[in-house]
Amino acid sequence: MARSNAPAPAAPNFLKDNPDLLFYLEHGVDWAPVVEAVERGRFGGADGFADVGEAVAFYREAAETFGEFVAREVAPHSAAIDREGVTFVDGEVKLGPTAEKIFKKIKALDIHGLVVPRELGGTNAPMMLYFLNSEMLARADVSLMTHHGFHGGMAAALLFFSVTEGTTRFSTGTDGLALDDTRFRKEIEEIVAGKAWASMDLTEPDAGSDLARVRTRAEQDEDGNWFVTGQKIFITSGHARYHVVLARSETVPAGAAEGDAFAGLAGLSLYLVEAFTPGKGSLPKTWHASFDRIEEKLGHHGSPTVAITYERSPAQLVGERGDGFKLMLLLMNNARIGVSFEALGLMESARRMAQAYAADRPSMGKTIDRHELIADMLDEMESDTEGLRALAVYAAWHEELGQRAQVEATALRAQGDEVGAKRAEAKSRALKAKARRVTPLGKYFGAERAVEHARRCVQIHGGVGYTKEYGAEKLLRDAMVLPIYEGTSQIQSLMAMKDTLMGIMKDPGAFVKRQAKWRWQVVSSRDALERRVARLKVQCLAAQQHLMQRTATDKLKAAVGNAPVTAWAQRFMRDWDPKRDFAYAMLHAERLMKLLVDEAIAGILLKQVKAHPDRRPVLERWLERAEPRGRFLYDEITTTGDRLLAKLHEAEAAMAKAEG
Ligand SMILES: Cc1cc2nc3c(=O)[nH]c(=O)nc-3n(C[C@H](O)[C@H](O)[C@H](O)COP(=O)(O)OP(=O)(O)OC[C@H]3O[C@@H](n4cnc5c(N)ncnc54)[C@H](O)[C@@H]3O)c2cc1C
Repeated sequence: MARSNAPAPAAPNFLKDNPDLLFYLEHGVDWAPVVEAVERGRFGGADGFADVGEAVAFYREAAETFGEFVAREVAPHSAAIDREGVTFVDGEVKLGPTAEKIFKKIKALDIHGLVVPRELGGTNAPMMLYFLNSEMLARADVSLMTHHGFHGGMAAALLFFSVTEGTTRFSTGTDGLALDDTRFRKEIEEIVAGKAWASMDLTEPDAGSDLARVRTRAEQDEDGNWFVTGQKIFITSGHARYHVVLARSETVPAGAAEGDAFAGLAGLSLYLVEAFTPGKGSLPKTWHASFDRIEEKLGHHGSPTVAITYERSPAQLVGERGDGFKLMLLLMNNARIGVSFEALGLMESARRMAQAYAADRPSMGKTIDRHELIADMLDEMESDTEGLRALAVYAAWHEELGQRAQVEATALRAQGDEVGAKRAEAKSRALKAKARRVTPLGKYFGAERAVEHARRCVQIHGGVGYTKEYGAEKLLRDAMVLPIYEGTSQIQSLMAMKDTLMGIMKDPGAFVKRQAKWRWQVVSSRDALERRVARLKVQCLAAQQHLMQRTATDKLKAAVGNAPVTAWAQRFMRDWDPKRDFAYAMLHAERLMKLLVDEAIAGILLKQVKAHPDRRPVLERWLERAEPRGRFLYDEITTTGDRLLAKLHEAEAAMAKAEG
C-alpha cells in the first residue's frame, strides 16, 4: 500500500465544523453572568470551578465532546433510526434497536442531568449549553433530540415547579447558595440517572391549541388525595414513568364560557402522575394508567408519541389549584426555545446535505451549486440559519437568567431577605420580558424555515431527493411537525400580535418614543448599517401603528352603531371582544410576525457587530433580504384583507340568523 504524508482526516465534529456555532461558545454568549447564576457564588469549592474562565473552558470541552459523539455515533445511524421506528407490543413502547443503543451511550456519557444541580446528581451546567448541544443532536437526528429533551428538560422543569411552589430549600453558606432539598428529588434523581423518563401531557382529542377545552378531570377524595381521569394524545415520550398532566380541578371556574362548566383556563391545575411503578426484581410493573397506542407519524420515527388513558390515576398536585395553565407556560417557554434549536439543527443538516450534493452534481457545463438559482437558495439558507441562531441564543440567554433570578428571589425570601428578593424579582421580570418578546418569534421562524429548507434540500437533489437514497425526504418529513407542536405557527403569531398591540395600548407614550428614536437614527447615524437597521425598525413600527389604528377605527364604528353620541366613549372603552375587534390584526398576525422576526434579528446582529466588527457581513447579508421582505409585508398589511373580512363577517351574520 502506498504511504501518504497527508495528515489523517480530523474526526467529524458538529461543533468544530461550524464556525457560526463556535462564535457563540467563544465570543457571542456573555458567559460571565450565566456562570455566576449557575454556580450561585460557589467558586473554589471542592466540586465547583475556580472561576468563570474555568467554567467556560469546561462548557467548551463538554460541547466539543458532544459534537464528536453526535457526529460519530448518531448521524451515521439516522436512516436506521427512521426505518426501525418505535414499536408497541402488549401495552409497552419500545425504541428501535439503534435508538436503544444510542441512548445507552448517552446514559454512559452522563448527560441526562447536564443542567440539574450537583446536589441532585447533575452536572450543574447552564441551559445555554444544553440548547447548543441540542442543536448538534438535532443536526444528527431530530427525533432523538426531541426524545432526549424529555430527560434533562423535564428534570429541570420539576425542580423549577418545586422552587415556584416553595418546596425547595436553600441555605447560604460561606461558599454561596446551596440547594438542601426539593420535593421531587426522587423523580429528578431517577431521570438524571437515566432510569426514568418524564413527559408533558396537555393535548387531548378535543383540546390542542385551545387548552381551555381540556376535559381531563382531577378529583380529591375525603383524605385529600388527588386522582386524574381522562385521555391525553400525541404525548412525546409518553411511555414515561412520570407525567406532568394538565387537568381540570375546578368544574365551575371563573371565566368559564356561559353554560359550559368545563371550559376556561382558570380551572386547570397541574399534576404529577406516575403511570407505572416498576416491579422489584422479576415482579411485573404496577400500572396506574394505560398506554393506548403509539401514533403512526410522517416522521420523527425515533421519538415515541403516545396516547394515554388515566382512570382514577393517583396524582400529586403541583403548585396551587387553578395555577395549571400558568405553570405550564413556564415549561412551554423552555420547550419553545428548544424548538428553535431543534430547527437550527435541522436547517444545518438540510443546507449541508444540499450543498454537498450541489457541489458534486454537474449540469449544463458546471456543478449545480454554481448555477445562480441554486446558489441563491443556498445563500439564503445560510443567512436564515445565522439569523435564527442569533435569535435563539438571545432568547435562551434572557430566559435562563430570568429563571435563575426568580429562583434566587425565592431562596432569598425563604431566608428572610425581602429586599434582596425584591431586587432579584425585578431583575427576573426585566430579563423575562425580553425573552417573552422573542421566544414565539424564534419558534415561528425556526419551524417555518426548517420546513422550507428541508423542501429546498429535496429540490436541490432533484429526482434522488424524492427517493430515500440521500435522506433529504426524511428531513422534510421530520421538519413538518415543527410548525405544529409546542404551539402552532398560527398560535405563535397570534401571541406575538397580542403582546405587541397590548403593549402599545398599555403604554402609547413608550411606543411614540420608540418610533421617534429609530426615525432619528435613520437620519443621524454615521454607520450605514445602523441606518438600515433603524429603517427596518421604523417600517415594523409603522405596520404596528397601522394595525392599531385600524383596530381602533373598527371598534369605534362598532361602538357608535346607532347609539347616542353620549354613549360612544363608554362603548368604545368597554366591551372589547378580541374575536370581533381584533379581526383585522388577527388576519395579518403572521405577516406582522415576519416583520417582527426580521427587525429583532437585525437588532441583535447589530449589537454583535458593535462588539465584533467581523460580524458585519452576517448583518449585511441579513438586511439584503430582510429589507425588500419588509416593504412587501408592509404593503400587504396596509392594502389587503378587507374583502376576506367582509366575507367572514357575512358568513357569521348568516349563521347567527340561522340559529335565531
Ligand atoms: C409529533 C407530535 C408530538 C407532540 N408532542 C406533544 C407533547 O409532548 N405534549 C402535548 O401535550 N402535546 C403534544 N403534541 C400535540 C401538539 O401540541 C398539538 O397537536 C398542537 O398543539 C395543535 O393542536 P391540534 O393538533 O389539536 O390542532 P388544532 O388546535 O385543532 O389546530 C389545527 C389548525 O388550526 C389552527 N388554529 C387553531 N386555532 C386557531 C386560531 N385561533 N387562529 C388561527 N388558527 C388556529 C392551528 O394553527 C392548526 O393549523 C404533539 C403533536 C405531535 C404531532
